[in-house]
Amino acid sequence: MKKIVLLGPPGCGKGTQSKLLVEKDNFVQLSTGDLLRSEISNSNSDLGKKVKDLMESGELVPDDIVIDIIVKKVEKHKKENIVFDGFPRNLKQAKVLDSSLENVSIKLDHAIFFEIDFQILQERINTRANETKDSEKRKDDNSKTLLNRIEVFKSSTLPIVGYYEEKGIISKINGMQMVNEVYAEITKIIC
Ligand code: ADP
Repeated sequence: MKKIVLLGPPGCGKGTQSKLLVEKDNFVQLSTGDLLRSEISNSNSDLGKKVKDLMESGELVPDDIVIDIIVKKVEKHKKENIVFDGFPRNLKQAKVLDSSLENVSIKLDHAIFFEIDFQILQERINTRANETKDSEKRKDDNSKTLLNRIEVFKSSTLPIVGYYEEKGIISKINGMQMVNEVYAEITKIIC
């Protein structure tokens, strides 16, 4: 069973590719963004509100909250194919992921990095924001938050690429191709 991480800036297509892996290749998708959104949708607590504010501004949610969510899910799905989408987002999370996998005697097979042009990325996110009905729109899909999310990506998430490079499990793919082309590259890497 495979364990893979998809790495890339917001809007690069990690979510789309994760869904394809779920539909076609029997993967479980662990998206910390989705998991956090569902946690806060049924919470009126102060903590829920704090998480919501951070997400809406494009900042990262504190590590302990995200790690707690993900470690439980790893335990639950350890015998299945897992695609991590949006996690890890900084070096600490990458190290915790390694140790929590090690605890259940498994390791990451691949980290796949989506390389993308930041200008095109901004256009994509604007289109996504404009095409989505207001009622379904994510509050963090707007240009101001996007710029912050890209900055957070560059400063916190990008260093993980070097970490996985040292471990020899990184593959870089061109994230600006058509959806099916990106998917074809991913399946070539993981098969
Ligand atoms: P995208 O895939 O467009 O980057 P996500 O849905 O993955 O967006 O994440 C939305 C927000 O959720 C992030 O901007 C951040 O506030 C929070 N978040 C998601 N995953 C993590 C994580 N691993 N660590 C900290 N915060 C996270």
